[in-house]
Amino acid sequence: MSQAIALRDVPRPFPPCRACGGPGPFIFLTREDGYQILDCPACGFITTFPVPDDQQLAEYYNQSYFRGGDEEAKAWGRSKSQAFEQALDLLEEFGLEPGDRILDAGCGHGGFLTQGAARGFRMTGVDVSAACIARCKTIPGVRAIQGIIEDIGESSEYEAVCFLDSFEHLPDFRDALDAAHRLLVEGGCLLIRVPNMNFHLLKLRALQLSGARWKYGLFTPPSHLNHFRPRVLKRLVESAGFRFWNWYSGAPAGYGGLIRRAPLAAVSRLPLPAGRWGREWGPAGNSLVLLAARF
Ligand SMILES: [Zn+2]
Repeated sequence: MSQAIALRDVPRPFPPCRACGGPGPFIFLTREDGYQILDCPACGFITTFPVPDDQQLAEYYNQSYFRGGDEEAKAWGRSKSQAFEQALDLLEEFGLEPGDRILDAGCGHGGFLTQGAARGFRMTGVDVSAACIARCKTIPGVRAIQGIIEDIGESSEYEAVCFLDSFEHLPDFRDALDAAHRLLVEGGCLLIRVPNMNFHLLKLRALQLSGARWKYGLFTPPSHLNHFRPRVLKRLVESAGFRFWNWYSGAPAGYGGLIRRAPLAAVSRLPLPAGRWGREWGPAGNSLVLLAARF
């Protein structure tokens, strides 16, 4: 997005919380790239504010986010390949078998489609980026659809629906969950991987306390619109008609070298804290993977 929306132009009061519908007033956490990051006092959902409209987001994803070059696609695939392998391992642990159908919602350049097809799954990808979908259509044995998951008119077609680092980008994430529910077979698996706000909020607090300036984005608006504490995501998924199955620390992904990734890899291998507190708090690590069953 070339320029952030001027906050003085935003009508007041703030629109209701996109997770719980609560009216606020929202707790201001920080400001990044001209956007506010706000915490809902009713449910703990954290939003980027303001949320760009559909046309602004379409322009952003088609012009700025993915340019579609070979180098970009390769770098993106490398940075995520560990995360994709983890997702496939978890789906197999859940019970998926070769031949089962997986929908990748927000498939980007198609790295997950490629890795899933290599394990014998029947892969379909959906993405708003025309450049990405054109690339995905060249992957053998894979189906690719341009648009958003709500556009797919099928029902009960997939054994798994995955949002891999895409769910935090969606302005209408509740509609996306309803679409996933419709698209899954009974007992099918919903897998969502998002940044873990337990981790990022601790980092924010530490930076605020130390007065340090951090050159990397913590919340990365406007691509990331939704920021989930694990318990908030769990409740949201359950309210959309899924049964929570388990959550995990996400395998590290990123363009950084070993020195930057090694500490994240170590944190992401920490076990879940035991007992009720641990179940409420959720996993450690900078990414969170949640699995749930459709029923
Ligand atoms: Zn809320």
